[in-house]
Amino acid sequence: MRGVSSECLFCRIVAGAIPAKVVHETDTVLAFQDVNPQAPTHVLVIPKEHYPDAATMANADPALAGEVLATAGEAAKISGVDASGYRLVFNTGADATQTVFHVHCHVIGGRAMTWPPG
Ligand code: 5GP
Ligand code: ZN
Repeated sequence: MRGVSSECLFCRIVAGAIPAKVVHETDTVLAFQDVNPQAPTHVLVIPKEHYPDAATMANADPALAGEVLATAGEAAKISGVDASGYRLVFNTGADATQTVFHVHCHVIGGRAMTWPPG
């Protein structure tokens, strides 16, 4: 697939080389449980194609960015937090603590949160 890197952790999950607990999958998007959950619900939603961050993805393929957001909502529904509420986060760059440079939307819920984030 175009834009898939064997060096990238999440590309390796898309390829099936690293196992993940899949919550939902379409032709273009994958939702799976975060390995180190920060809340009772903590799902990551990624495009199968590699983009380093949300803005790069949205500029290159706006429809795909929409699919990631729609799938985040679907993952919240599947996880049972759509009614109680949830947070969508795209950590972007060093100050935001991004560690995996394959765009991913954190779907976090199942507990009350504070604002602003730390
Ligand atoms: P970031 O800080 O880049 O926004 O978040 C990366 C997320 O990926 C972290 O929440 C981390 O727990 C998660 N993560 C890192 N490695 C793996 C892995 O191998 N499998 C899964 N399912 N999640 C991972
Ligand atoms: Zn990747």
